[in-house]
Order: sequence, then C-alpha cells, then structure tokens
Amino acid sequence: MSKPSAAPPPPAANFVRNIVAEDLAAGTHQGRVATRFPPEPNGYLHIGHAKSICLNFGIARDFGGVCHMRFDDTNPTKEDTEYVDSILDAVTWLGFGWGEHLYYASDYFEKCYEYAEFLIRAGKAYVDSLSADEIRAYRGNLTEAGKPSPFRERSADENLELFRRMRAGEFPDGAHVLRAKIDMASPNMNLRDPALYRIRHHPHWRTGNSWCIYPMYDYAHAVSDAQEHITHSICTLEFEDHRPLYDWVVETCPVPSRPHQYEFARLNLTYTLMSKRKLLELVVGKHVDGWDDPRMPTIVGLRRRGFTPGALRLFCDRIGVSKSDSLIDVSVLEDCLRDDLNEHALRGIAVIDPVRLVIENFPADAAEICHAPNHPQQPELGSREVPLTRELWIEREDFMAEPVKGFFRLAPGAEVRLRYACVIRCTGFSADADGRVTEVRAEWYPDSRSGTPGADTYKVKGNIHWLSARHSAAVEVRIYDRLFKDPNPAAVDDFRTSLNPDSISIRHDSQVESALLRAAPGSHWQFERKGYFCADSRDSQAGKPVFNLAVTLKDSWQKR
Ligand code: ATP
Ligand code: MG
Repeated sequence: MSKPSAAPPPPAANFVRNIVAEDLAAGTHQGRVATRFPPEPNGYLHIGHAKSICLNFGIARDFGGVCHMRFDDTNPTKEDTEYVDSILDAVTWLGFGWGEHLYYASDYFEKCYEYAEFLIRAGKAYVDSLSADEIRAYRGNLTEAGKPSPFRERSADENLELFRRMRAGEFPDGAHVLRAKIDMASPNMNLRDPALYRIRHHPHWRTGNSWCIYPMYDYAHAVSDAQEHITHSICTLEFEDHRPLYDWVVETCPVPSRPHQYEFARLNLTYTLMSKRKLLELVVGKHVDGWDDPRMPTIVGLRRRGFTPGALRLFCDRIGVSKSDSLIDVSVLEDCLRDDLNEHALRGIAVIDPVRLVIENFPADAAEICHAPNHPQQPELGSREVPLTRELWIEREDFMAEPVKGFFRLAPGAEVRLRYACVIRCTGFSADADGRVTEVRAEWYPDSRSGTPGADTYKVKGNIHWLSARHSAAVEVRIYDRLFKDPNPAAVDDFRTSLNPDSISIRHDSQVESALLRAAPGSHWQFERKGYFCADSRDSQAGKPVFNLAVTLKDSWQKR
C-alpha cells in the first residue's frame, strides 16, 4: 500500500552530533564511534526511549559507527524476559539494528567483581556494615558534609575477606554493602562514598543463583561501557551529577577503554506520562487495557494506535536534542503522523456517525458508478468504483435542520456536492420524538454528475462524503482522545485524578466501503474528511476489522 518515498533529509545537527564529529576529526578514540542504548528490562519502551534510540542508533548509522543494544539488568527483582523481547522488537520496528552487538550488564558481573576486588586492594573501596538508614544519616545533605562510617578504615585484607564472604552468601540482604572510598565531604552527593555492591538473595533471570551480590547501576554502567569500548555514552540530564562518579570508575578501575558520558534533555510530552513506573501503574490498575492500549505512549501502544516508525523518527528529528528540559506539545507528534500518513496511507471512505439520506428522484435499483482516487497526490495508485444509489449514508454532522450562519453543508433547501458524484438539494427530513434526525431527503441533478459537460456550472460551497447503503458495511470504530485532562499529568499529585473519562468511545454503527472489510490488521487508511485510521492489530478478525482513530485530519477540510 505504500510507495517508496524519497530519502528523508539528513538529521539536523545537534550538540551531541557535533561532539562526535569533532572527535572524529581530531582522531579521538582512534576514529571509532560506538554508542549504546541501555534500557533496563523492567517495562515497555515509550516515546521518550524512541528519542534515545534515534539519537544513539542514528549517530552510529551516520558516522560509520556501531550502536550496541545493552540491557542494564542489574536489578534482579524487577526484570523480566517479556520486557526484553518487547524492547528488542520495538527497536527493530523503529528501523534500527544492533548486528552482533547484543549485550547485557550481567555479562560483566564477573568483571565488575574483579574490579571491585582491585579497588579494595588499592584502598579505594570498603565494606560498610552500617544499616541503610545509618548510611543515609551519615551521608549528610546539601548543606552539611557527610561523616565517615566507623567501618571506613577497615584494612584491605579485612575488606577483601568480608567482600568474598558477601559473594559466598554468608550474609543476609542489607548486612553489608561495598562502597567506593571517595570523599564524604564532596559537594556532589554522588561522590560521598557511593555504594558499588549490595546483597540481594534473589535469582537473576540470566545468571540464576550464581550471584547474591549485585553491582549498583552507576558502577555497572561505567564498567559495561568501558568493556564494550563505547566512545560516547549518551544519557539523560538527571545523570549529569553522576558523571564525576562515572569518570572515577573508568579512571580508577583497570578497564580496557575510556568512554565519555554526555547528557541531553529527556523528552517530556504534554498530556502524557513518561515514566515506566507510572505506566506500569496504569496497566496494573486497569486504567488502560494493557501496555499496548492505543492510548499509551509506549511504542507498542503508539504502533497499535496507528503510528508508523517513519512518523516517530520524523518526530525525533523535529524535536532535536538539547541540554535544556522542555515540554513538547503532543500536537508536534500528531503532526508528524499526519505528514507521514498523508503520503503513505491509501484513501477510503467511512461514515463514522451515519444518518440515512434518500435521493427521492433516483430509481430504487439503479447505481451510478463514480470513481474515487486511492491517493489524490499519487494518480499511479489508481482509483476505485464507488456506486451512487438511492439510499446513502452521510455524516450526521453534515446536516443541520436549522443551519447556523456559515454552515455550507446540508440543510432544508440547501445544495451540496456529494464528493466524486453529483449535486443534490435537500428536500426534507424526518426526526424522532427527541428531535434526533432519522432520515434526510434530497433530489439529485443528473447533469451535475462529475465528468458531465457543464457539471461545473453548479456552484455549491459544501462537499460531503457518502456511502451507498447497500454497498457498505458496519464496523467497530474506536475514537481515541487524550488519556489525561491535564497538560502535565506528571505534575498532578495523583495522576489518576487527571484521567480523561472520554479518552475512548466505541461505535458499532460506523459504515465503511465494503472493500475495507478486507483491511489487513495494522494497515493504515485515510478516511476522507475524518482522519487517519489503523485496522487494530489485536482485535481485527478476517472480514471484521476494528478501526482505531490514529489522528484526525487538520481542521481545514471545510474550506477545501
Ligand atoms: P523511565 O524514567 O521512563 O523509567 P528510564 O530512564 O528508567 O525511564 P531506562 O530503561 O533506564 O529507562 O532508559 C534507557 C535509555 O532511555 C536511557 O539512556 C535513558 O536515558 C533513555 N530515556 C528514558 N526516558 C527518556 C526520555 N523521556 N527521553 C529521552 N530518553 C529517555
Ligand atoms: Mg531507569
């Protein structure tokens, strides 16, 4: 259904790309570029991760480098293979690959341990036996220096013995930690003897019961980068204060390479939550129908909603990469989808909220064959037949019994063009006891048929879509709106109070061209005048598609 598009423009320069280009020009890292994308397998990826993926894999692609896919699996209690599979799938779907470079922080548990013993022997790490609460109290705060633990001056031999016994499983969780010996008075709290190892008697999904001590993220991350000869370790701004610790690890341990960390601003989007923990709460609390609910900002949710990899890449290019935090308007994301699907989605006709229209001077069994283009800007994609018959479906909103000023569509006595067909004049309507319109009546002008000489002498302002009632079929259509009412739900005390009760409405009476019953799950369509829709990949069945509203069209159609 899609036609190959021209090559997209190269990604805009940004400060990280500039650093990479300068390093290459200066011959730093022997002319190599190696980045990595390091998710923790504790949830599904979201659109924020897409920014990081596009940046890391994009740099590798554009500078002749490599980007490693690495799972930061240092926390055995929260991780799951379900997440690993979904993360790999999301990166692939976004259009990136890691070749043979698939790694896990747990690949380096032995190395981390070896370097820890090295640090102990060098007098740069010690086993602390204070409780977690005591360690916190000893650490001080931003205005007060920390004070040394009474265990800080243990001898290297004693530390080594205790650390080995920690590994051997002789102590319960929390009995000891291994800490770096850096500076308890440092203005940077991350340097006040940060923990390197903790005891966790919990099996790990990859290493099983081999370990009961696990390296802390900051330590394992720096060691992993160095083991893999990463050149540019790109992370989000909240790690800026951790960089001195990162540097301390790679400079103090006998690691095989010297990576550098660079920080960029994470993506925040209006009306969107962007934390795996909160997204998990939405799933567990059943506020949404799973991680792939089309209202979720997860890659699987966006994909099911109808987002394309091209639209997400375009979005990541457009928002750029900077060092200052900002909140991007979700309409920027929606515009990227429109731009992508405008080019790639075939056109179809759907009447979402149908009301019957009877053309009274049209013979009951007759059909006039009209033609609708499959893509107005791509004539080579051809057109299809849409039969005009006596009984049609039109959108309820295209008729007003008492038209307001400026309403140019159907109203008693008014004329309008049926797109691709002819001009009709409204002759009357029926309504039920509540005043709800049940049927609209009209007459047509046969000499106004599209293609008939002189048809263009009919001057009408409105142009509406329609379907032949006997050539269309009812389908389920899901109309989505924003999941949250507040522009910044993360700032609301309890984000659940911000949930939009109207974020989904389901219709079973919407009508589509009968050919659309064969729409493949996951296929994208522009339903003329209504928006871009995607056949739901989970709930569509053969001959019975369910259509998700991905994004509406711009509101400019009435002027066309
Ligand atoms: P969350 O806060 O949503 O749980 P995380 O940072 O804990 O995310 P990780 O699995 O550790 O998730 O992230 C993998 C990579 O993706 C990291 O390099 C992280 O900096 C990056 N990343 C996560 N969220 C965003 C975001 N909103 N914008 C840009 N990059 C992000
Ligand atoms: Mg994290």
